[in-house]
Amino acid sequence: MQLYDTLTRRKQELPPDGQIRMYFCGPTVYQRAHIGNARPFVLGMWLRNWLREQGHDVKLVHNITDINDRIYEAAPGASAELAARATEWYLEDTDALGLGRPDALPKASEYVPQIVRFISELIDEGYAYEVEGDVYFRVARDPDYGRLSGQRPGQVEEQEPNPRKEDPRDFALWKANKPGEDTWWESPWGHGRPGWHIECSVMAEELLGPVFEIHGGGIDLVFPHHENELAQSNALGHGFARIWTHNGLLRFVGSKMSKSEGNIVTIREAVERWGREAVLVFFMTGHWSKPIDFSDEVMAAAEARVERFREVFRGESVPGDDWQDFAAALEDDFNTPEALAVLHAWRDHELLRRALDIFGLASLAVTAEAPPEIVELAERRRTARAARDFDEADRLRAEIEAAGWEARDVADGFQLVPR
Ligand SMILES: [Zn+2]
Repeated sequence: MQLYDTLTRRKQELPPDGQIRMYFCGPTVYQRAHIGNARPFVLGMWLRNWLREQGHDVKLVHNITDINDRIYEAAPGASAELAARATEWYLEDTDALGLGRPDALPKASEYVPQIVRFISELIDEGYAYEVEGDVYFRVARDPDYGRLSGQRPGQVEEQEPNPRKEDPRDFALWKANKPGEDTWWESPWGHGRPGWHIECSVMAEELLGPVFEIHGGGIDLVFPHHENELAQSNALGHGFARIWTHNGLLRFVGSKMSKSEGNIVTIREAVERWGREAVLVFFMTGHWSKPIDFSDEVMAAAEARVERFREVFRGESVPGDDWQDFAAALEDDFNTPEALAVLHAWRDHELLRRALDIFGLASLAVTAEAPPEIVELAERRRTARAARDFDEADRLRAEIEAAGWEARDVADGFQLVPR
């Protein structure tokens, strides 16, 4: 299987067998996650399903950033409570997508001793230095710095301005506790807390080892977040990620959604309004590495696709579709829009169900059973039709429809389909 890699800017081959270790950057928890935040989660879970289907042993780690400036800003003096609550929201909202959970969901707050140890090693090796309780990474020591984000070392943007740093490019590994920040940890540099980038380097290496196959996250994380993760880990001689997969961002477009920038849709709202299957099918319509537009119109189109699949399962199964057509699309850079097009042409129920299951959509194969009272109405309608009492048949049809079902006449009787 090949996946596009941000670092080498070309598709790279995954190992043909054996273990695939994946780290997908997760949310900073301070509010209800918007639907765009679901994309790296969904992609990670789908990739895990597909690679397992291909016989790999897969481990997916998806972190929760529960120590971060944005959380302190959102809840001054009560950041820990907000982070705990927002972590529960994220789990609830992603659970509602019906894809299960990653193999590990580490929280930064649970890895502080390991983070302190990692920073101490960087200081010992001359890659980091302390300034008044802060610790900074010495970018000048890394000749490859800027490679992931395509910046020349001399032209790297300034990060976290502080006149006491040796170099404007240097970034924080540890930040001294400030007034209003309600959480802090002991360290050799005094009370403080880790910087965001070091959290991910440490959690990834603690759970996957110093080298792993895939590192994912939104394209907005390439710089500075992932550039810094890579620099920190490489500084200690750790190979870190072999392939960097960055998903394109979700754009709110269309009549209603572009009216105000604040008009974003959360994962929860999207699932409640369109259903989890339409949300998943929507994500399948875009290639993961490209931006994807979200609007009422595209969600209506995704709902229509969901209904087309359900319709296939209401019909006869026609064996003979070729699994290889579907597999080829996924093996070439996990091309879900192409895979989706293949699946829309399939009529082999068993094969289609197996393919949809990779995307959490096996539920589309379940045809709803009408309750006995509706079946009885349909039986009476059939009898009325046989007796050519069409007024009574029409009246019963209306009664069935009012109860939320549609009676369809088929060769051997009738079929009841939810409306
Ligand atoms: Zn991260």
